[in-house]
Amino acid sequence: MALHLKTKTNINGTGASQNLDVPGIVKGVIDDIRANGDQAVRKYSDKFDKWTPKSFLLNKGQIEEIISKVPQQTIADIKTVQSNVRTFALAQKETIKDLEMEIQPGVHLGHKNIPIDCVGAYIPGGRYPLLASAHMTILTAKAAGVPKVIACTPPINGEVPPATIAAMYYAGADEIWVLGGVQAIAAMAIGTETMQKVDFIAGPGNAFVAEAKRQLFGEIGIDLPAGPTEVLIVADEKANPTTIATDLLSQAEHGPDTPAVLITNSKAVGEASLLEVYRLLDILPTKGIASISWANFGEVIVVPSLDEAYQLADFYASEHVQILTERPREALVKMNNYGALFLGDMTCVSYGDKCIGTNHVLPTKKAGRFTGGLWVGKFLKTVTYQEVTSEKASGELGRLCGRAARAEKFEGHARSGDLRASLYLKDKFEW
Ligand code: NAD
Repeated sequence: MALHLKTKTNINGTGASQNLDVPGIVKGVIDDIRANGDQAVRKYSDKFDKWTPKSFLLNKGQIEEIISKVPQQTIADIKTVQSNVRTFALAQKETIKDLEMEIQPGVHLGHKNIPIDCVGAYIPGGRYPLLASAHMTILTAKAAGVPKVIACTPPINGEVPPATIAAMYYAGADEIWVLGGVQAIAAMAIGTETMQKVDFIAGPGNAFVAEAKRQLFGEIGIDLPAGPTEVLIVADEKANPTTIATDLLSQAEHGPDTPAVLITNSKAVGEASLLEVYRLLDILPTKGIASISWANFGEVIVVPSLDEAYQLADFYASEHVQILTERPREALVKMNNYGALFLGDMTCVSYGDKCIGTNHVLPTKKAGRFTGGLWVGKFLKTVTYQEVTSEKASGELGRLCGRAARAEKFEGHARSGDLRASLYLKDKFEW
């Protein structure tokens, strides 16, 4: 039986957007941009971001001027982090192989992996300059071999975020637009007088951004549902309550809609961690946001055993799962549903978010049940081809195809097979 030391108080909504009809708002913006193009993009940028520059697209001179304002240490850090992300992404790409086999004499089947032609990368930033998302989206697309990446990021309080622009530039964006929210996603997905229509959109964002990607899926491809961030910690009786509380709050500050959950087999650790959360919330500079998300979506649950902790964590399928136990690698075999695992107290979700090199665009709202996070493979299309080089094989396939197609009542398909059987095995066939 699980004991809930702290339950979430908001069971239906998603924080800031909880009282809004997010799907309805998003549909209205998309429909208007579809009908009115750039004029509507400008209207919503003004409405939601108070942002109406002459052009949303930055030119080379503007980019250079913006980057010149970024401190040298920040530039050096961007390059170090991008090197980590690139190294891991290229190593992952090495695991993706083209394939060709002769399934029977004279019958060749293959697949190859082709980069998507044109990708839109969304770098969120309404609240914070999330420059790390530039490495995760743009750089990963480039590592996959995508020829053109169009990247959008919102202004923050009416200002261009310089470090984000630097990260977008060094990640290899072909175009940099200062444009946010649904208007950016819709402009990229639909295309306007000034924006080229993309084939695929990658990148995280708030509830509006995630909903826009969901509604436009089909017209374009999308990476995954990567909405407001989530953290879940599995801890045993030896875990340090201050570490637990610190790491829960490190994610709770993302936005007012961040679930932060502790599951432990120790009531003492659960109680001490809860006290620590309230002590640290008092002194955290971002307590304004973190305390709202903790009040709404924070949970502390005590279960009888670690096995039950893993089972419950699997049910939550959280975006980030941190394992603070004596044998953290055990989670690799005990758990199946998560975006990313952080094993042991020497690593943390913040490393994944900001610098360690794995991708931080990860599935939320239980999407970890059916997808992993963003990686080079998401930017590649695995397509197949076939060739038959033996008359005997083609004739035999023709007979098989004729029977298989007729079983499905497809006479046209059957005749394609009959034709080959008649050509190569001399079966009787007349149109
Ligand atoms: P954002 O860029 O996602 O959204 C900002 C935009 O939202 C603005 O440009 C504005 O146009 C639009 N907007 C705001 N209020 C609106 C309204 N009422 N109606 C219509 N549009 C509106 O930036 P953010 O808001 O700071 O959110 C970033 C999000 O990204 C956070 O929720 C964070 O948790 C999430 N995130 C998720 C992952 C992941 O992998 N799942 C990774 C990083 C960040």
